[in-house]
Amino acid sequence: MKDKVVIVTGASSGIGRATAALFAQNGAKVVAVGRNQKDLDELRSSLPKSAGEVKIQLADVREHSQIDRMVVETVDSFGHIDVLVNSAGILKGGNIEDTSLDDWDKMMTVNLRSVFYLTQKCVPHITENTGNIVNVSSVAGTRAFPNVLAYCVSKAAVDQFTRCIALELAAKGIRANSVNPGVVVTNLHSRGGMAEDAYEAFLERSKETHPLGRPGTADEIAELIYFLASDKASWITGGNYSIDGGRALTCAR
Ligand code: NAD
Repeated sequence: MKDKVVIVTGASSGIGRATAALFAQNGAKVVAVGRNQKDLDELRSSLPKSAGEVKIQLADVREHSQIDRMVVETVDSFGHIDVLVNSAGILKGGNIEDTSLDDWDKMMTVNLRSVFYLTQKCVPHITENTGNIVNVSSVAGTRAFPNVLAYCVSKAAVDQFTRCIALELAAKGIRANSVNPGVVVTNLHSRGGMAEDAYEAFLERSKETHPLGRPGTADEIAELIYFLASDKASWITGGNYSIDGGRALTCAR
Protein backbone atom coordinates (compact mmCIF):
# COMPACT_ATOMS: atom_id res chain seq x y z
CA MET A 1 0.00 0.00 0.00
CA LYS A 2 3.07 2.26 0.10
CA ASP A 3 2.38 5.66 -1.49
CA LYS A 4 -1.08 4.59 -2.69
CA VAL A 5 -3.51 7.52 -2.50
CA VAL A 6 -6.49 6.51 -0.40
CA ILE A 7 -9.57 8.61 0.37
CA VAL A 8 -11.50 7.54 3.47
CA THR A 9 -14.76 9.24 4.45
CA GLY A 10 -16.02 9.20 8.02
CA ALA A 11 -12.38 9.12 9.09
CA SER A 12 -12.91 10.95 12.37
CA SER A 13 -14.37 7.94 14.16
CA GLY A 14 -15.21 4.24 14.19
CA ILE A 15 -14.63 2.12 11.10
CA GLY A 16 -13.45 5.06 8.97
CA ARG A 17 -10.88 6.08 11.54
CA ALA A 18 -9.56 2.54 11.99
CA THR A 19 -9.36 2.16 8.21
CA ALA A 20 -7.54 5.45 7.69
CA ALA A 21 -5.06 4.49 10.43
CA LEU A 22 -4.43 1.02 8.96
CA PHE A 23 -3.76 2.34 5.47
CA ALA A 24 -1.46 5.08 6.81
CA GLN A 25 0.41 2.59 9.00
CA ASN A 26 1.08 0.63 5.83
CA GLY A 27 2.55 3.63 4.05
CA ALA A 28 -0.46 4.90 2.10
CA LYS A 29 -1.07 8.60 1.55
CA VAL A 30 -4.42 8.97 3.25
CA VAL A 31 -6.96 11.70 2.63
CA ALA A 32 -8.95 11.61 5.86
CA VAL A 33 -12.38 13.12 5.23
CA GLY A 34 -14.56 14.22 8.12
CA ARG A 35 -16.18 17.16 9.81
CA ASN A 36 -14.32 17.22 13.11
CA GLN A 37 -10.88 18.84 12.89
CA LYS A 38 -9.95 17.88 16.44
CA ASP A 39 -10.70 14.18 15.94
CA LEU A 40 -8.86 14.15 12.60
CA ASP A 41 -5.84 15.90 14.18
CA GLU A 42 -5.92 13.30 16.91
CA LEU A 43 -6.00 10.48 14.34
CA ARG A 44 -2.95 11.96 12.64
CA SER A 45 -1.01 12.49 15.84
CA SER A 46 -1.77 8.94 17.03
CA LEU A 47 0.13 7.44 14.09
CA PRO A 48 3.78 6.38 14.23
CA LYS A 49 6.41 8.51 12.48
CA SER A 50 6.84 5.78 9.86
CA ALA A 51 3.20 6.15 8.74
CA GLY A 52 2.28 7.58 5.35
CA GLU A 53 1.15 11.17 4.99
CA VAL A 54 -2.34 11.95 6.30
CA LYS A 55 -4.02 14.90 4.65
CA ILE A 56 -7.06 16.16 6.51
CA GLN A 57 -10.05 17.24 4.44
CA LEU A 58 -12.89 18.84 6.31
CA ALA A 59 -16.02 18.07 4.31
CA ASP A 60 -19.68 17.30 4.86
CA VAL A 61 -20.48 14.54 2.39
CA ARG A 62 -24.02 15.88 1.96
CA GLU A 63 -22.61 19.00 0.26
CA HIS A 64 -21.72 18.74 -3.44
CA SER A 65 -19.41 21.70 -3.34
CA GLN A 66 -17.42 20.25 -0.43
CA ILE A 67 -17.03 16.90 -2.22
CA ASP A 68 -15.98 18.72 -5.41
CA ARG A 69 -13.38 20.74 -3.51
CA MET A 70 -12.04 17.70 -1.68
CA VAL A 71 -11.56 15.70 -4.89
CA VAL A 72 -9.91 18.62 -6.72
CA GLU A 73 -7.53 19.25 -3.81
CA THR A 74 -6.67 15.55 -3.57
CA VAL A 75 -5.83 15.36 -7.26
CA ASP A 76 -3.90 18.65 -7.08
CA SER A 77 -1.81 17.24 -4.22
CA PHE A 78 -1.31 13.66 -5.34
CA GLY A 79 -2.18 13.55 -9.06
CA HIS A 80 -4.50 10.57 -8.87
CA ILE A 81 -6.57 8.34 -6.56
CA ASP A 82 -5.89 4.65 -5.90
CA VAL A 83 -8.59 3.73 -3.40
CA LEU A 84 -11.87 5.27 -2.28
CA VAL A 85 -13.39 3.99 0.97
CA ASN A 86 -16.92 5.25 1.55
CA SER A 87 -17.42 4.80 5.30
CA ALA A 88 -19.38 7.90 6.40
CA GLY A 89 -22.87 6.86 7.42
CA ILE A 90 -25.70 7.45 9.85
CA LEU A 91 -28.35 5.25 11.46
CA LYS A 92 -31.66 6.18 13.02
CA GLY A 93 -34.36 3.77 14.07
CA GLY A 94 -37.87 3.86 12.65
CA ASN A 95 -40.43 1.62 11.00
CA ILE A 96 -42.93 2.05 8.17
CA GLU A 97 -45.39 3.73 10.53
CA ASP A 98 -43.12 6.21 12.27
CA THR A 99 -40.14 7.02 10.02
CA SER A 100 -40.39 10.70 9.12
CA LEU A 101 -39.73 11.83 5.57
CA ASP A 102 -36.95 13.96 7.00
CA ASP A 103 -35.19 10.96 8.60
CA TRP A 104 -35.67 8.92 5.41
CA ASP A 105 -34.08 11.71 3.35
CA LYS A 106 -31.21 12.17 5.81
CA MET A 107 -30.26 8.48 5.70
CA MET A 108 -30.59 8.28 1.92
CA THR A 109 -28.52 11.44 1.53
CA VAL A 110 -25.60 10.43 3.74
CA ASN A 111 -25.61 6.66 3.23
CA LEU A 112 -26.41 6.53 -0.49
CA ARG A 113 -26.53 9.82 -2.39
CA SER A 114 -23.13 10.96 -1.11
CA VAL A 115 -21.62 7.57 -2.00
CA PHE A 116 -22.94 7.92 -5.55
CA TYR A 117 -21.73 11.50 -5.92
CA LEU A 118 -18.29 11.06 -4.39
CA THR A 119 -17.67 7.88 -6.38
CA GLN A 120 -18.73 9.63 -9.59
CA LYS A 121 -16.33 12.49 -8.90
CA CYS A 122 -13.44 10.13 -8.06
CA VAL A 123 -13.79 7.62 -10.91
CA PRO A 124 -12.05 9.76 -13.57
CA HIS A 125 -9.02 9.97 -11.27
CA ILE A 126 -8.90 6.36 -10.05
CA THR A 127 -5.89 4.47 -11.39
CA GLU A 128 -6.91 1.96 -14.03
CA ASN A 129 -6.09 -1.73 -13.46
CA THR A 130 -5.19 -1.39 -9.77
CA GLY A 131 -7.57 1.25 -8.40
CA ASN A 132 -10.69 0.31 -6.50
CA ILE A 133 -13.60 1.32 -4.32
CA VAL A 134 -14.73 -0.21 -1.02
CA ASN A 135 -18.15 0.77 0.31
CA VAL A 136 -19.10 0.22 3.93
CA SER A 137 -22.54 -1.36 3.82
CA SER A 138 -24.05 -3.49 6.61
CA VAL A 139 -25.67 -6.81 7.45
CA ALA A 140 -28.75 -4.57 7.23
CA GLY A 141 -28.10 -4.37 3.49
CA THR A 142 -28.42 -8.09 2.96
CA ARG A 143 -30.97 -8.99 5.65
CA ALA A 144 -34.25 -7.34 6.70
CA PHE A 145 -34.52 -6.13 10.29
CA PRO A 146 -37.57 -4.43 11.77
CA ASN A 147 -37.43 -0.83 13.04
CA VAL A 148 -34.40 0.28 11.01
CA LEU A 149 -36.27 0.62 7.74
CA ALA A 150 -34.55 3.53 6.02
CA TYR A 151 -31.13 2.33 7.13
CA CYS A 152 -31.73 -1.19 5.75
CA VAL A 153 -32.98 0.18 2.44
CA SER A 154 -30.06 2.60 2.12
CA LYS A 155 -27.54 -0.18 2.71
CA ALA A 156 -29.26 -2.62 0.32
CA ALA A 157 -28.97 0.14 -2.27
CA VAL A 158 -25.26 0.56 -1.50
CA ASP A 159 -24.77 -3.15 -2.19
CA GLN A 160 -26.60 -2.93 -5.52
CA PHE A 161 -24.73 0.28 -6.38
CA THR A 162 -21.50 -1.61 -5.69
CA ARG A 163 -22.45 -4.48 -8.01
CA CYS A 164 -23.55 -2.11 -10.80
CA ILE A 165 -20.38 0.00 -10.72
CA ALA A 166 -18.24 -3.14 -10.51
CA LEU A 167 -19.67 -4.15 -13.89
CA GLU A 168 -19.44 -0.66 -15.35
CA LEU A 169 -15.83 -0.12 -14.28
CA ALA A 170 -14.51 -3.61 -14.96
CA ALA A 171 -13.37 -2.65 -18.46
CA LYS A 172 -11.02 -0.12 -16.88
CA GLY A 173 -9.77 -2.70 -14.39
CA ILE A 174 -11.25 -0.70 -11.51
CA ARG A 175 -12.76 -2.96 -8.83
CA ALA A 176 -15.64 -2.23 -6.43
CA ASN A 177 -16.68 -4.21 -3.36
CA SER A 178 -18.66 -3.65 -0.22
CA VAL A 179 -18.26 -4.93 3.32
CA ASN A 180 -21.31 -5.86 5.40
CA PRO A 181 -20.52 -5.65 9.11
CA GLY A 182 -22.74 -6.86 11.93
CA VAL A 183 -22.83 -4.79 15.11
CA VAL A 184 -19.53 -3.00 15.63
CA VAL A 185 -18.74 -0.95 18.72
CA THR A 186 -18.54 2.66 17.46
CA ASN A 187 -20.39 5.95 17.87
CA LEU A 188 -22.99 5.06 15.22
CA HIS A 189 -25.85 4.08 17.51
CA SER A 190 -25.39 6.83 20.10
CA ARG A 191 -25.16 9.44 17.34
CA GLY A 192 -28.43 8.03 16.03
CA GLY A 193 -30.14 8.74 19.34
CA MET A 194 -29.78 5.43 21.20
CA ALA A 195 -29.52 6.10 24.96
CA GLU A 196 -26.48 4.78 26.85
CA ASP A 197 -28.37 2.10 28.80
CA ALA A 198 -30.22 0.94 25.67
CA TYR A 199 -26.87 0.71 23.86
CA GLU A 200 -25.38 -1.35 26.68
CA ALA A 201 -28.37 -3.72 26.47
CA PHE A 202 -28.02 -3.84 22.66
CA LEU A 203 -24.34 -4.84 22.95
CA GLU A 204 -25.22 -7.46 25.55
CA ARG A 205 -27.89 -8.85 23.23
CA SER A 206 -25.32 -8.84 20.40
CA LYS A 207 -23.59 -11.71 22.19
CA GLU A 208 -26.62 -13.82 21.27
CA THR A 209 -27.48 -12.34 17.89
CA HIS A 210 -23.93 -12.91 16.62
CA PRO A 211 -23.07 -16.62 16.58
CA LEU A 212 -19.43 -15.88 17.42
CA GLY A 213 -20.73 -14.46 20.70
CA ARG A 214 -19.75 -10.80 20.55
CA PRO A 215 -20.03 -7.61 18.54
CA GLY A 216 -17.11 -6.70 16.27
CA THR A 217 -14.42 -4.05 16.44
CA ALA A 218 -13.64 -1.28 13.98
CA ASP A 219 -10.14 -2.71 13.56
CA GLU A 220 -11.57 -6.04 12.36
CA ILE A 221 -13.61 -4.27 9.68
CA ALA A 222 -10.61 -2.17 8.65
CA GLU A 223 -8.61 -5.35 8.01
CA LEU A 224 -11.20 -6.61 5.49
CA ILE A 225 -11.42 -3.24 3.79
CA TYR A 226 -7.63 -3.17 3.56
CA PHE A 227 -7.51 -6.64 2.03
CA LEU A 228 -10.19 -5.85 -0.55
CA ALA A 229 -8.38 -2.64 -1.50
CA SER A 230 -5.02 -4.38 -1.85
CA ASP A 231 -3.54 -6.09 -4.89
CA LYS A 232 -4.04 -9.40 -3.06
CA ALA A 233 -7.73 -9.00 -3.96
CA SER A 234 -6.92 -8.29 -7.62
CA TRP A 235 -9.58 -10.68 -9.00
CA ILE A 236 -12.34 -9.71 -6.57
CA THR A 237 -15.00 -7.31 -7.73
CA GLY A 238 -18.73 -6.81 -7.25
CA GLY A 239 -18.75 -8.69 -3.95
CA ASN A 240 -20.68 -7.86 -0.78
CA TYR A 241 -18.67 -9.39 2.05
CA SER A 242 -20.21 -10.35 5.37
CA ILE A 243 -18.06 -9.60 8.39
CA ASP A 244 -20.49 -10.12 11.19
CA GLY A 245 -19.59 -13.01 13.48
CA GLY A 246 -22.10 -15.10 11.55
CA ARG A 247 -25.05 -12.82 12.12
CA ALA A 248 -26.36 -12.84 8.56
CA LEU A 249 -26.74 -16.59 8.82
CA THR A 250 -29.32 -16.30 11.58
CA CYS A 251 -30.94 -12.89 11.05
CA ALA A 252 -31.70 -12.85 14.78
CA ARG A 253 -32.50 -9.49 16.37
P1 NAD B 1 -19.34 6.29 13.48
O1 NAD B 1 -20.51 7.13 13.83
O2 NAD B 1 -18.27 6.13 14.48
O3 NAD B 1 -18.67 6.79 12.13
C1 NAD B 1 -19.43 7.37 11.08
C2 NAD B 1 -18.67 8.56 10.59
O4 NAD B 1 -19.39 9.14 9.50
C3 NAD B 1 -18.52 9.62 11.67
O5 NAD B 1 -17.20 10.06 11.73
C4 NAD B 1 -19.44 10.72 11.18
O6 NAD B 1 -19.03 12.01 11.58
C5 NAD B 1 -19.33 10.54 9.68
N1 NAD B 1 -20.41 11.23 8.99
C6 NAD B 1 -21.74 11.10 9.21
N2 NAD B 1 -22.39 12.00 8.46
C7 NAD B 1 -21.45 12.69 7.76
C8 NAD B 1 -21.51 13.75 6.83
N3 NAD B 1 -22.67 14.30 6.47
N4 NAD B 1 -20.35 14.23 6.30
C9 NAD B 1 -19.17 13.67 6.67
N5 NAD B 1 -19.06 12.68 7.57
C10 NAD B 1 -20.19 12.20 8.09
O7 NAD B 1 -19.93 4.88 13.06
P2 NAD B 1 -19.29 3.64 12.28
O8 NAD B 1 -19.92 2.45 12.84
O9 NAD B 1 -17.82 3.73 12.21
O10 NAD B 1 -19.91 3.87 10.84
C11 NAD B 1 -19.12 3.73 9.66
C12 NAD B 1 -19.92 3.00 8.61
O11 NAD B 1 -20.12 1.65 9.07
C13 NAD B 1 -21.31 3.57 8.38
O12 NAD B 1 -21.56 3.61 6.99
C14 NAD B 1 -22.22 2.57 9.06
O13 NAD B 1 -23.49 2.54 8.49
C15 NAD B 1 -21.46 1.29 8.85
N6 NAD B 1 -21.82 0.18 9.75
C16 NAD B 1 -21.67 0.31 11.09
C17 NAD B 1 -22.06 -0.73 11.93
C18 NAD B 1 -21.96 -0.64 13.42
O14 NAD B 1 -22.57 -1.48 14.12
N7 NAD B 1 -21.24 0.32 13.97
C19 NAD B 1 -22.53 -1.93 11.37
C20 NAD B 1 -22.64 -2.02 9.98
C21 NAD B 1 -22.28 -0.97 9.19
